[in-house]
Amino acid sequence: MMTKQMRSKRIAVIGAGLGGLCLAQGLKKHEIQCSIFEKDAAINTRSQGYRIRVNEPGRKALEKCLPENLYRLFLNTCAASYNGMKVLTTTLERSQNALVESWSDGVKEMPDLKPNRLTLREILLQGLQDNICFGKELTDWKESETGEVELTFSDGSTYTADLVVAADGVHSKIGKEYCKDKKINTGNITIYGRTFYSPEAQSAIAQELHEGTSVIIGDRLSLIIDFMTFDFSRKEASRDFLSPISDYFYWAFIGQPQVFGMVKSDFYTPSAEEILNSINKVTHQWHPQLKALFQYADLPSLSVTPIRSSLPKGPWKSGNITALGDAVHTMSPAGGVGANTAFTDAALLTDYLISKNSIPEAVADYEKQMIMYSNQAIEISREGGEILHGNTDDDGNKSL
Ligand SMILES: Cc1cc2nc3c(=O)[nH]c(=O)nc-3n(C[C@H](O)[C@H](O)[C@H](O)COP(=O)(O)OP(=O)(O)OC[C@H]3O[C@@H](n4cnc5c(N)ncnc54)[C@H](O)[C@@H]3O)c2cc1C
Repeated sequence: MMTKQMRSKRIAVIGAGLGGLCLAQGLKKHEIQCSIFEKDAAINTRSQGYRIRVNEPGRKALEKCLPENLYRLFLNTCAASYNGMKVLTTTLERSQNALVESWSDGVKEMPDLKPNRLTLREILLQGLQDNICFGKELTDWKESETGEVELTFSDGSTYTADLVVAADGVHSKIGKEYCKDKKINTGNITIYGRTFYSPEAQSAIAQELHEGTSVIIGDRLSLIIDFMTFDFSRKEASRDFLSPISDYFYWAFIGQPQVFGMVKSDFYTPSAEEILNSINKVTHQWHPQLKALFQYADLPSLSVTPIRSSLPKGPWKSGNITALGDAVHTMSPAGGVGANTAFTDAALLTDYLISKNSIPEAVADYEKQMIMYSNQAIEISREGGEILHGNTDDDGNKSL
């Protein structure tokens, strides 16, 4: 058992995203402290999508890492869950799709959960405030022969750690250079946003969208819509660390940029008005009660992100540096398992760090297992995208 030994080690977690915070909670549960270095100035600096679908492995990993009170708070603050998903055409007729049906909840302890992303992050942050340094962007690292790692941040400061866990998302330098993670552009983009449940939106938006999850399969694109209705207005919302939240429709398109009349570039960030124009063009022949989703959309919430995916990978030389989440295995949101896999990583790494005899042994065992299941998750997500809207290669050539 290494818990006692680990308590004297300097553990650095790079990135206070979903995965990094989950790991820090897992360690804290065993009274192991870590230092978290986050490049953003605060937890809510950027918008990052509005709902996360948490599946059974993801929920179990959160249960393992969070203390009982925070795990309960997570459950109580999720939007209402419904079993299954409906597949609809762009004119709101019922349709069928084998893949989407396979996502249905089947025999599970409970249906997939739908937390508001910021709420989940605020919960994951609880009790870790003293461990986080905001405004710290990792720029470099250097390993010594004794196994110590010196980290350098963009403000020139340094920190020496016995274990470094890169949880710094899709652009992770450690993921790329140390873990040899190779990411490609799938050629697709996701456009997402939310529409608040105002009285006008409520009456204009089709009734069948007012419950659970709907998947619209269009011409070379797909659209997922989740109705997010919260019931934590009184007791839970009175907790001062949770930002208030109103009911909303979350929606996300996936398709090639050309389908939306957008240019294919990583560096092009259209304005909210441009995004809305593109959506209006692509949906102009859709059912008016479906288009109402965009008519009443919350403009500041609109975002476009290119979809990247890691290639399947083999092992690298493991040591006192490792990675979790998107840093080491980015996958298309078409599978809805990126964050769930990051939670699984966090729980597994915690388990090994408290049970193995040394950091390198724990890291090696974690990586062996993580590489296997994350390769599978990447493939499932890739296949999901292929079936829903057609994938392209890195040059964006292949269509449906
Ligand atoms: C539209 C959309 C919908 C999605 N829906 C789902 C879903 O329903 N279910 C699901 O499982 N997954 C979903 N995903 C995927 C999910 O969002 C990611 O897989 C997940 O956020 C990965 O968590 P992470 O902690 O690895 O990275 P992130 O959450 O990206 O966190 C990385 C953190 O590191 C910080 N950082 C970056 N660089 C540095 C640096 N150099 N130094 C210090 N800090 C740094 C960032 O600021 C950030 O806070 C979705 C993705 C998108 C785009």
